[in-house]
Amino acid sequence: MNHISYAYGKNHFTQDHDLQVILKHYWSDYAEHQIELQEFGEYAGREIYETVYHVDHDARPVLVSHDLDGNRIDRVRLSPAHRSVLKQIAHINRPPYEGGSWHHHYALGYLVGDPGLYCILTITGQTVYAIHKYAPQFSEWKEQLLSGEAYGATWMTESQGGSDLGANEAMATPDGDHWHLTADKYFASGAGLTDYAITTARPVGGKPGPKGLALFLMPRINRDSKLNFHIRRLKDKSATRAVPSGEAELNQSEAYLIGEANQGIYYTLENLTVSRLANTMGAMGTARKAHIEVLERVQRRKAFGNALQAYPLIRRDLTDLAVRLAGGLALSFHAIDKFDHAWDTRPPYTSDYHYARFLTHVAKNRTAEHASAMTAMVMELFGGLGFLEEYSVARWHREALITPIWEGPSNIQALDFLETIHKHHAHETYLAEFVPILEKIGTKTAKIAQYAMETALAQLADLPSEEAQWHAKHVLEQIADATQVALLYTLVPTGGKRYEKLAELYAARFILHEEYPAWAMNDREVWGIGLDA
Ligand SMILES: Cc1cc2nc3c(=O)[nH]c(=O)nc-3n(C[C@H](O)[C@H](O)[C@H](O)COP(=O)(O)OP(=O)(O)OC[C@H]3O[C@@H](n4cnc5c(N)ncnc54)[C@H](O)[C@@H]3O)c2cc1C
Repeated sequence: MNHISYAYGKNHFTQDHDLQVILKHYWSDYAEHQIELQEFGEYAGREIYETVYHVDHDARPVLVSHDLDGNRIDRVRLSPAHRSVLKQIAHINRPPYEGGSWHHHYALGYLVGDPGLYCILTITGQTVYAIHKYAPQFSEWKEQLLSGEAYGATWMTESQGGSDLGANEAMATPDGDHWHLTADKYFASGAGLTDYAITTARPVGGKPGPKGLALFLMPRINRDSKLNFHIRRLKDKSATRAVPSGEAELNQSEAYLIGEANQGIYYTLENLTVSRLANTMGAMGTARKAHIEVLERVQRRKAFGNALQAYPLIRRDLTDLAVRLAGGLALSFHAIDKFDHAWDTRPPYTSDYHYARFLTHVAKNRTAEHASAMTAMVMELFGGLGFLEEYSVARWHREALITPIWEGPSNIQALDFLETIHKHHAHETYLAEFVPILEKIGTKTAKIAQYAMETALAQLADLPSEEAQWHAKHVLEQIADATQVALLYTLVPTGGKRYEKLAELYAARFILHEEYPAWAMNDREVWGIGLDA
């Protein structure tokens, strides 16, 4: 693996200066977990790193339809390395359910980095979340899911609509203490692996649209010890191969109602907040893997007589990576922090929860854009080798490209963001938090960020519905960028002056849309952390 990757064998936690600063800033128990994070960073840089490459290139999950005795099983065969890593990292879903925090879970997810592998943990964690909050009678299944003995899944999408969940045709018929579901779940991650899936269906005679959907918990094996649903096939994907994604056929499949039938869409959206935050970690984690690769590359590769890192334009590109990495990670952990304080609320929810959701849309969308841009940039910085599948770097761009799509593409994030503003006034909580922060900082850049956020939100508030939709994606991005500037400033007491510089660079590039100021060129503290001295 050393021959094809520079990041392999490094400790992905100790290497990551921003992560350490940001965790120290947001997570009150960080000091207690530092050793664990160091050990996990070592594991992430070796076993996880090698295994995800191996699975992607040589050992994709294979669907096995029947066992030797002719029984239909619809199980995936995983490589032993894949199975072993999954077992080793199952524990990362535990912290929030054992008195710990979401910072802990998401920090470990970020170190996993690989969106496919982390997806298995995320959908398992989401199943745990639904049981924990709304179906505690299934706590025995929850423990199996947390211990790595079983896997979960979240099957909502049908062929006629992923974004438009209200178009779900899945039907649910009651039968005593349980239900029978009939559905065709067209994008089903965890297919062939999952033991307990959560899935949406409409109780017979229920309302049309999303409000008529209930959420169900469906085991792979029913109470008669029979296979409860079938997997038609696995999808042939351009990345995320570590998670098998397929099509699930539910034919009178036995399932249990989660919570109350008429609240299903709320539970589903709540669950999506968990996975959208995970998406921010997958996006930034993937980008960081590419960054670790390129930091070594620019020291080793010579062109025109010097190592690449000597050249102004290489330093400019490293500055771009550094700015986006610190900004995106700070934005993600700010959203995670708000979710950590609000996640025990239930429908119709508190304003703190709506605010956590507002920030989640902002972070999900922008980190996915950052990751796509950064991993493409790293490929380019590797030159021709960046395009070759035999080395590890090209894969990170393929992986990053899922992050804008699943858990809701950018238009859906923009529409849901708009809903948190128009229906729940979450922008008022946002301004109440950020305006005083920026006023206190008081620099010219802080004033620019404050002006950007206030004008963007004011513009939306005055628009009729269709025009507000037209502008929503742009505003979502403007808010993300102004927020990142403010958050980078707030890291100064923990991380030092570097974060003030990053705030100024971020604002120049993404709020004023200018080139990064040239003072950064000779400031290794900005772009060169992680390079050898
Ligand atoms: C690898 C992979 C794994 C997946 N795993 C799962 C899973 O486990 N469970 C699951 O439920 N789903 C899963 N999905 C499905 C995924 O969540 C959906 O593909 C995604 O939410 C988009 O839905 P769609 O594909 O139906 O696109 P569509 O809903 O058809 O959207 C197409 C485009 O139209 C845009 N759009 C839609 N409505 C509007 C509107 N009103 N205004 C403006 N633009 C709009 C969208 O933003 C998008 O860009 C997976 C997908 C992939 C690729």
